[in-house]
Amino acid sequence: SSPAAGSGAPSLHDDVEKVLLSAEEIEQRLTELGAQIAADYAEEPPILVGVLKGAVMVMADLARRIDLRTEMDWMAVSSYGSGTKSSGVVRILKDLGTDITDRHVLIVEDIIDSGLTLSWLLSNLRSRGPRSVEICTLLRKPEAARVEIDVRYVGYDIPNEFVVGYGLDFAETYRNLPYVGVLKRSVYED
Ligand code: 5GP
Ligand code: MG
Ligand code: MG
Repeated sequence: SSPAAGSGAPSLHDDVEKVLLSAEEIEQRLTELGAQIAADYAEEPPILVGVLKGAVMVMADLARRIDLRTEMDWMAVSSYGSGTKSSGVVRILKDLGTDITDRHVLIVEDIIDSGLTLSWLLSNLRSRGPRSVEICTLLRKPEAARVEIDVRYVGYDIPNEFVVGYGLDFAETYRNLPYVGVLKRSVYED
């Protein structure tokens, strides 16, 4: 069948139970964070380090709202762990292409849940001799408050629900939803 869906074709959006954060709300918050980051780093721009793949949308929209001569680089990491819980044991799948010695680093994340992945990443990056390492995350879940990570920039604190969209996946799907939402139970159960 044709990939160009006609009217009446099933929509990606049909799988969504509710929208938690609209595209407009996300854009508005990232505009505020971008301005704050530009002010905080006015003396020396940071290198933005996006964590693949979830942070792709946040990076794209945030970076365009930071009016500085900043750079972007990417890391991909995988947490060993059972199922949906991360274990804190992390493997680098793709490393930075940049030497961050003496640089200001700003990690760009989609979501912090347990914070285990991020605390591993923090100590890994800190071991490379950067001038500073800070974190910007679009979303933060309640459990993250229990780990000792100082997150400088937070978009939204959200309830302890599994969310998708705006970079966040369920089984690699739904990253391209333009908003953050919660899936219908039937999506998991089928
Ligand atoms: P943690 O902070 O527990 O080490 O793990 C964070 C990672 O778990 C995120 O980068 C993301 O990949 C995944 N994650 C945590 N909560 C959610 C969620 O609600 N939805 C999705 N799609 N991924 C999540
Ligand atoms: Mg992430
Ligand atoms: Mg995922």
